[in-house]
Amino acid sequence: MKKIFIGVAWPYANGPIHLGHIAGCYLGADIFARFHRLKGDRVLMVSGSDQHGTPITVTADREGVKPSVIAERYHEINSRALVDLGIEFDLFTKTSTEGHKREVQDFFLKLLENGYIYEKETVQLYCPHCKKFLPDRYIQGICPHCGYEEARGDQCDNCGKILDPMELKNPVCQLCGTTPEPRTTKHMFFRLSALEEQLIKYVEERPYWRSSVKNFTYNWLKSGLRDRAVTRDIKWGIEVPVEGWEDKRLYVWFEAVMGYLSASVAYSEMKGDPKLWKEYWDEGMDAEHYYFLGKDNIPFHTILWPAMLMAHGGLKLPDNVVANQYLRYGGEQFSKSRGVSIEAGEVLKKFSPDQIRYYLAASMPENRDTDFTWEDFERKINTELVNALGNYVHRVLTFTYNNFGEIPARGNLSEEDEEALQVLKKTLDRVENNLEKASIKDTIADIIELARFGNNYMSRTAPWSLIKEDRGRCGTVLNVNIAIVKGLGVMLAPFLPSTSKKILTGIGERDLRWDEAMVVPGTGFKLKKTEPLFHKVRIEKESFPEFERLNLRSGDVISV
Ligand SMILES: [Zn+2]
Ligand SMILES: [Zn+2]
Repeated sequence: MKKIFIGVAWPYANGPIHLGHIAGCYLGADIFARFHRLKGDRVLMVSGSDQHGTPITVTADREGVKPSVIAERYHEINSRALVDLGIEFDLFTKTSTEGHKREVQDFFLKLLENGYIYEKETVQLYCPHCKKFLPDRYIQGICPHCGYEEARGDQCDNCGKILDPMELKNPVCQLCGTTPEPRTTKHMFFRLSALEEQLIKYVEERPYWRSSVKNFTYNWLKSGLRDRAVTRDIKWGIEVPVEGWEDKRLYVWFEAVMGYLSASVAYSEMKGDPKLWKEYWDEGMDAEHYYFLGKDNIPFHTILWPAMLMAHGGLKLPDNVVANQYLRYGGEQFSKSRGVSIEAGEVLKKFSPDQIRYYLAASMPENRDTDFTWEDFERKINTELVNALGNYVHRVLTFTYNNFGEIPARGNLSEEDEEALQVLKKTLDRVENNLEKASIKDTIADIIELARFGNNYMSRTAPWSLIKEDRGRCGTVLNVNIAIVKGLGVMLAPFLPSTSKKILTGIGERDLRWDEAMVVPGTGFKLKKTEPLFHKVRIEKESFPEFERLNLRSGDVISV
């Protein structure tokens, strides 16, 4: 039994999460967690709303409300959407809790004590019209790396590079459009440069990272590490626990990643076992640490967070950092602000969680950006989920129910039956192997392929002819088919939890573990009449208010 810690990127609580987020990190993490739970491993999976920082205050300014109103509103909406999609966190919390604040301030003081935090005078952009220093997202300008014109002060959405606002060309104040001017102020800095050698060694020791993650990280390391400010001139956020710093707050990049640790501590407290988190986090423990995130989050998890953990000492560093590319829509990156968005909550009103999970798993942008289209959604659901998987399971169970009423016994196996069970066994092994590597897309394709094979085996062995000639042989063939159905039920559990449950309870199984997938189905179990697992979806030219509001092409509109 292993101990698996899974940290999933913290969504900014400044808007509803959309399909890009789900495909980017939440679904993959959930599948990975469910797989390990199914294997009997101990899993701790945490995340939460990132409620501080400028993304929230920018939205609050725009709506004329307090930042906490925005932060709480989207924490509620997003928590619910994740639950409704069956994303099962051990704890999905938020950065505005007292517990998080306490952990962050303790962590900061430890870094200060260890000599990794220092104070420095710095030049920052100041808006003479708004009469204030402008933190990152309050500044927009041209990216010095790729020339993108709407780069933000903290990061370029186009090339993903992390920026310092001073690097932007033609910077303007987001609030009033004025060109800001550089002025002197003071901030606390994290001595990242001192950790360069340790970080290079750390990355070299993890050759199993996806190549996109490695490349991005090496490029950053190659360009040299500079110390980074950990405080900001902003009122919304966690106070700096040092006298004389009352008007500044800890910078959100620095504070939010600590949520992985503070959420683990909070989970321990919730379980009434305050030391539990140490079993996952103490350096000496044999826990494995996985992080799931979108590619724009790579440097925070492969460089900054490991560096902070090194500076702190005594805590586990990330093992695998599983970053996906983007799911795009109409050739563009999902973006609420640009009106390119399909909100998770809206899609859940039209489709079942398993339909959505299936599509996103089968299209997961693991190695390249992937385009979402409603045509593709319809095609994948109808040909793969309905025709291949649903049809096979329904065919087997309905025929067996009509002719035997129960799971028939398995007699002598023919060569063809042996081969079918071999195919099942090999698929199970491959799926297990791939899931260990958090490879989702190929794995679900493999499972669908097994359903296609099952359909084929069913047709070749033709139980509808056998029933008239040799009832015993017919029972054997059906028993082998039900063994495949059972294997499918187990393998689908991480991907399509409610479908898996339906399949397995239909054949008298519950709470199966991964290693029980090959056990011969329970002979004599009384079957019930089964309903089809899925229905086809089709695109119709009728209204779908949410998508219309976003000015999508008419005709791209959907109904069940
Ligand atoms: Zn201004
Ligand atoms: Zn750029």
